[in-house]
Amino acid sequence: MRLDLAEDVGALTARLVDIESVSGAEKALADAIEEALRALPHLTVLRDGDAVVARTDLGRAERVVIAGHIDTVPVAGNLPSRTEDGMLYGCGTSDMKSGVGVQLKLCLLAAPNRDLTFVFYDCEEIEAERSGLLRLTRTHPEWLAGDFAVVMEPTDGLIEGGCQGTLRAEITAKGVRAHSARSWEGVNAVHGIAPVLDRLVRYEPRSPLVDGLRFREGLNAVGVRGGVAGNVIPDECVVTVNYRFAPDRTIEEAFAHVCEVFDGFDVRLTDGSPGARPGLNDPVAAAFAAAIGGTPRAKLGWTDVARFSALGMPAVNCGPGNPDVAHTAGESVSLAKIVESERRMTEWLTEESGGRR
Ligand SMILES: [Zn+2]
Repeated sequence: MRLDLAEDVGALTARLVDIESVSGAEKALADAIEEALRALPHLTVLRDGDAVVARTDLGRAERVVIAGHIDTVPVAGNLPSRTEDGMLYGCGTSDMKSGVGVQLKLCLLAAPNRDLTFVFYDCEEIEAERSGLLRLTRTHPEWLAGDFAVVMEPTDGLIEGGCQGTLRAEITAKGVRAHSARSWEGVNAVHGIAPVLDRLVRYEPRSPLVDGLRFREGLNAVGVRGGVAGNVIPDECVVTVNYRFAPDRTIEEAFAHVCEVFDGFDVRLTDGSPGARPGLNDPVAAAFAAAIGGTPRAKLGWTDVARFSALGMPAVNCGPGNPDVAHTAGESVSLAKIVESERRMTEWLTEESGGRR
């Protein structure tokens, strides 16, 4: 199916929804997007697998990256799309083909006030290792370079800035194994973990303000294991903790904090992903926030904006979809919200004062 970018953004979104693109099967949609963009002489179009990147090269002072995934969760009997009472229904309407529709309309801007890089990528809805955006950061990081990134995931049109980082660590208490009938000959490691649990119960998480947004941390036990047999004093007990940390800390700093909390114990980092600063104090991001309006809020989960942050760019989520209906059989998006998103993004990228430092 061909895409006609001249259609209004609602109709264009419906076309995108009707080209099924469950994760791993995005080729038809990636082909259609690539074909439509290659017809635009002001864009350089690049392709890597089922990811399509299109860039302007106007020599502007700033470059903005506008990104969205083109895959969806499995179809739930909700294709083709249908329109009812100003709502467009169907798989991927909210998450996030409405955002992709807005991206495609913005691709038509031949003389934006900032250089633009549009990223359409595959495999966001499945395991992180297969993410098309992760692949691009490894194969072509230069394609993604910019001063600021907007990921058009569903946020109901609000700005969700940055995201928190996450790490898991194992805290181990050691003991000495013994027969439980002669427990005084051993040291009970399960009893030995008590101070760890006590410190977790008494722990007061931070709620730091980062670039003007309030984040909210958490340090919690998410697992505990210990015990050898019903008649043995256990010689090891391990508590797994998950620390969700604000983006003013790196993974290293976050882990150092966990080590400090559990001072005196053996603490081992098992995995972690860094957070992302919202960067709303940067001029380019501040201009974005002013154009979009509303009160930005912090993103408390982990999202793909962290991949841009890892490349040194502030990044936010902001898209027309409603996150509450994403991944549901009744998934839908308000057509008015899509139009509004297109209007505000267009204003931001065409206003006269834009792009000047
Ligand atoms: Zn999504």
